Amino acid sequence: MVENLKEKLLDQAQEVNRLRSELGGTDLEKHRNLLVAENEHLKQDMKSCEAQLQKLKKQHVKCIDCEHIQENARLQERLAQLQLEVEEAKGRLSELDLEVQQKTNRLAEVELRLKDSLAEKAEEEERLSRRLRDSQETIASLKAQPQQIKYIIKTVEVESSKTKQALCETQSRNQHLQEQVEMQRQVLKEMEQQLQKSQKIAAQLRAQIMLYESELEQAHGQMLEEMQNMEDDKNRAIEEAFARAQVEMKAVHENLAGVRTNLLTLQPALRTLTNDYNSLKRQVRDFPLLLQEALQDARAEIGQAIEEVNSTNRELLKKYRRELQLRKKCHNELVRLKGNIRVFGRVRPITKEDGEGPEAANSVTFDPDDDAILHLMHKGKQVSFELDKVFSPQATQQDVFQEVQALITSCIDGYNVCIFAYGQTGAGKTYTMEGTPENPGINQRALQLLFSEVQRKASDWGYTITVSVAEIYNEALRDLLGEPQEKLDIKLCPDGSGQLYVPGLTEFQVQSVDDINKVFEFGHSNRVTEYTSLNEHSSRSHALLIVTVRGLDYSTGLRTTGKLNLVDLAGSERVGRSGAEGSRLREAQYINKSLSALGDVIYALRARQGHVPFRNSKLTYLLQDSLSGDSKTLMMVQVSPVEKNTSETLCSLKFAERVRSVELGPVSRRAELVSWSSQEHLENDSPVAAQPSIRSHSSPRPTRRAGSFRRKLQTSGKLRPVPV
Ligand code: ADP
Ligand code: MG
Repeated sequence: MVENLKEKLLDQAQEVNRLRSELGGTDLEKHRNLLVAENEHLKQDMKSCEAQLQKLKKQHVKCIDCEHIQENARLQERLAQLQLEVEEAKGRLSELDLEVQQKTNRLAEVELRLKDSLAEKAEEEERLSRRLRDSQETIASLKAQPQQIKYIIKTVEVESSKTKQALCETQSRNQHLQEQVEMQRQVLKEMEQQLQKSQKIAAQLRAQIMLYESELEQAHGQMLEEMQNMEDDKNRAIEEAFARAQVEMKAVHENLAGVRTNLLTLQPALRTLTNDYNSLKRQVRDFPLLLQEALQDARAEIGQAIEEVNSTNRELLKKYRRELQLRKKCHNELVRLKGNIRVFGRVRPITKEDGEGPEAANSVTFDPDDDAILHLMHKGKQVSFELDKVFSPQATQQDVFQEVQALITSCIDGYNVCIFAYGQTGAGKTYTMEGTPENPGINQRALQLLFSEVQRKASDWGYTITVSVAEIYNEALRDLLGEPQEKLDIKLCPDGSGQLYVPGLTEFQVQSVDDINKVFEFGHSNRVTEYTSLNEHSSRSHALLIVTVRGLDYSTGLRTTGKLNLVDLAGSERVGRSGAEGSRLREAQYINKSLSALGDVIYALRARQGHVPFRNSKLTYLLQDSLSGDSKTLMMVQVSPVEKNTSETLCSLKFAERVRSVELGPVSRRAELVSWSSQEHLENDSPVAAQPSIRSHSSPRPTRRAGSFRRKLQTSGKLRPVPV
C-alpha cells in the first residue's frame, strides 16, 4: 500500500509538472509579449508616418492657394480620420492589452493557487511519509507487539481511507484547474483572433497611408512643376527687362556721348563767356561814371532837340491851321460849285410785291455813259431826267453811303446837313435811310462814320454826339424817345439869338453802335405806321433822326456845332391814288401839304426871295437851320421801276429836278472862337460842357422824365434839349 501510495504520489507530482508545463503560463506571456512588440512596432510606424507627414507639410507650406493645397487639405482631413481610426484601434488594442493583463493576473493567481496546492501536497506527502515512517516504526515495534500492530494496521487503514479521500479531492481540484486552463486557452484564442483583426486593420491603415503618401508625392510633383513654370516665366521676364534695359542704356549712353561732345564744345564758349563776363564786370564798375557823363551829354542834346522840335511844332501848327482853313475854303468852294442842294435818285429793284404781268414790267432805264441820267417810259413816251447821281437797282447800301459820307463828315466840321428820302410809299425810302439789320442804311452808317472820325481826331478834338428821334404826324411833332403822345412845340430861343429849339425833345448822348441800335429800336417802336391800299406797309409820317455833333479843338479852343438831319419823308403819292378815306385822307392831305411846303421853301430859297415860308409846315420850320443858306442838303429821290407806278415816279422825278436847280447861299460854318482860359477845361470838363454857347441854348423848361430806357441811356451821356 505504501508502495502504491508512493507511486501514486510520484504520478501526481509528474502530473502536476505536466500540468504546469501544459498550463503554459509562459505561452500566454509570449503571446502578450508578441502583442506588445507588435503594438510597439505599429506605434513606431505611426510615428514615422507622422514625421513624414510633418515634413511634407513643411515642404508644401509655401504652396498657397493652389489646388494641391486643397487636395492636401482633403488628404489631411482623410489622414486625421485615419488617425482617429488608428486611435480607435489603439484604444481597442490597449483594451485587449488590459484584458490580457487581467488574464495574466488571473493566470498568476491560478499558478499561485496551484503552487499552494503543490506545497500542500508536498506537505501532505511529507506528513504522509513521516507517518509512513512512523507507521513502519510502529509496524516494526508492532511486529514485536502484534496486538499493537493490529491496532496500528487498523489505524493505518483508517488513515489510508482519509488519504484516499484527500487524493480524490486533489484530483477534483486538478479537474477544476484543467477546466480553468481550458477556458484560459479559449480566451487566448479569442484574443489572438482580435489581434489578427487589429493587424488586418493596421495593414489596411498602412495601405491607406501608402496611398496618401503617393498622392502627396503626386501633389508635390505638380507643385514642383508649377514652381518650375513660374521660375521659367520669371527668368523670361527678367531676360526681357534686361534686354530693354540694355537698349535704354545704349540710348542713354548715346545721349551721354552727345552731352559730352556738347560739353566739350561748350567749354571754350564758357571760357570766352567768363572772359566776357570779367570784362563786362569791369565795364559795369566803370559804368556809373560813364553813364553820368553820357547822361549829361544826352540831357544837353535832348534839351536842344526838344527846343528844336518845339519850334518846328509851332511852325507846323501854324502851317496846319493855315492848311485847315485852306481845305475848308476849297471844300466850300467845291460844294458851292456843285450846288448846296444835291439831288440823287435811287431806283429800287423789282420785288415780289410788285406782282407779275405788264403792270410789273420795268419802265426805268439808265444811260451807260452818264450816271446822272435816267429814262422813264411813261404812256409810251420816254422822259429823261438829269440828277446829280442816279443809283440803279444794283447799287448797294455801301455804294449809296460812299456818295453821301462827305456830307456827313462835314457835320463834324460844324456844318448843318440835311438828308431827305423822298418818294411814293414802297419806293425804298425806309430801306435807304434805315435799311435792314443785316444791311443797314444811311442812319446807322452815318453814326458809325461819325464815331470813327471823332475817334481819329481824338488827339486834337473833343466831341460829343447826341441823337434825337422825332416824327411829324398830321403836322404834330412827337418825341419818339420820350412820350410820343405829347405834341411838341418849336420855339424861339429866349436869349434873342434867333435860334429855334424844341422844349422837351429828348436827346441822348451815344458812344457806340450798341447805343445807336437801342435808340433806333426804341424810336421805331413809337413810330406811327398804318396800312393803305397802295402798299401793304406804308409810312404816313415824316421820321427824323437828328444828330448833333459838338466839338472843341484843343489847340485853338475853337468850338463847333454841326447838325445832321436824316429824314425819312412820308409817302409822296397823290391822295386819289391811295384810295384813302376819312382819317387816312386827312393824313394824306397833311403829308401833301408839308411836302409842298418843302417845295415852296426850296423854291423861295432858289429864287433868293426875301421871305422864305419856313413856317408853312412843321417840317420846314423844324429844318429851317438845315435848309437856310449856310447848310447842305441832299434829296434822295426814291423811285419804283414798275410800270404801274410810272405816274408817281414821274411826279417824284419832276420834284427832284425842281429842287436840284435851287442854288443856296454860300456855305458857312457855325463856329465860334472862345478864349482858352485854362488847361483844366480839357482835363476836368467834357469839351461841350465847358462850352458857353451851348449853355445859352439850354431849355428854359426842366428836362422831362422819360421811360426806363431813357434813364438807362442817360448813364452814357448828358440829356439836353435840342436847339434847332
Ligand atoms: P418806303 O419806305 O419808301 O415806303 P421801303 O423802304 O419800305 O419803301 O421799301 C419797300 C420794299 O422794297 C421793302 O420791302 C424794301 O426792303 C424793298 N426795297 C427798297 N429798296 C430796295 C433796294 N435798293 N434793294 C432791295 N430791296 C429794296
Ligand atoms: Mg417807309
